[in-house]
Amino acid sequence: MLRLDKYLCDMKAGTRSQVKALIRKGQVTVNGLPVKSPEMKIEENSDQVCVNGKSISYARHVYFMLNKPAGCVSATQDNHDKTVLQLMREQKGAFDDALLQRELFPVGRLDKDTEGLLLITDDGELAHRLLSPAAHVEKTYYVEIDGPLTDAQQNSLQEGVDIGEKSLTRPAILKEMPGLSFHHADAASAWQLTITEGKFHQVKRMMQAVGRNVVYLKRLRMGTLLLDETLAPGAFRPLTAKELSDLQ
Ligand code: URA
Repeated sequence: MLRLDKYLCDMKAGTRSQVKALIRKGQVTVNGLPVKSPEMKIEENSDQVCVNGKSISYARHVYFMLNKPAGCVSATQDNHDKTVLQLMREQKGAFDDALLQRELFPVGRLDKDTEGLLLITDDGELAHRLLSPAAHVEKTYYVEIDGPLTDAQQNSLQEGVDIGEKSLTRPAILKEMPGLSFHHADAASAWQLTITEGKFHQVKRMMQAVGRNVVYLKRLRMGTLLLDETLAPGAFRPLTAKELSDLQ
């Protein structure tokens, strides 16, 4: 952590008095918000500092949390569908430089119709660690399905089901959610499912293995990182210093 005015001087944005003047005139933003205090403490690895809209981050990497909406794909390039990166870049704002100049990618895949937590970064090492099959990083999903689950179906999902892979799925945690207001009109029950693998379409295939279809799917958590529910679908923000250090 270091003071904003020192950070700006280190980044050659001006002398100490020049950068203080920039700050006082409201020309400096931290994480998208104008800051008037030169003493503000900056977390150099995660805070996004801009002068007149231009990012002067000295973070080695950048980390964003996106609430992925349905309808876009979590790839870096696609010939048919909008990618999550195109979606982010369309939103003009304080992170333009970081979004345009960095080789960002989503950490893992969500299906086109899946919503929720997606970590977007240019940190290949962290991505590798989070996605490594051996790491068994927990992922929690909110799942709406087209019928109820009997105790036997629930037990199967928790113990492991056959989704056509070499072995059964690893033990999972399943919790029923109150179905007060389903997201999808065809939903008959809602669940939280925590898995420690990331097989292709895993949640949908697990539900199919017990005879149910997923009608709505949203990722809520990846490892220690929780979806910020104040982010509307399509919105994103940088990770906080705490979120980043917990993840690393
Ligand atoms: N499981 C799925 O079936 N789809 C996703 O997008 C994520 C997990």
